[in-house]
Amino acid sequence: MNSKCPNCNYNFFPENGFYWGAMFVSYGLASLEGLLVILACSWYGNELFDYVNLLIIISFMIILFPLNFRLSRIIWLYIFGNKIKE
Ligand SMILES: [Zn+2]
Repeated sequence: MNSKCPNCNYNFFPENGFYWGAMFVSYGLASLEGLLVILACSWYGNELFDYVNLLIIISFMIILFPLNFRLSRIIWLYIFGNKIKE
């Protein structure tokens, strides 16, 4: 991740631990994805509470982790990035 925007020189690290809260956004994204996966599993005929579903959800979360990591930081920056003066 760049420390400053190459176009407008915006500081992407306004304070220490700024992206700590992005962890909660990532948790929300992962929960939503897990819910969608379990709904897709039940649509394919699996039982709603099945260990196979759990393994599928865990694999999806491992696969989607890099996307969630970046997306949660972007969302966090869009929510709170403009409230901090440089
Ligand atoms: Zn910029």
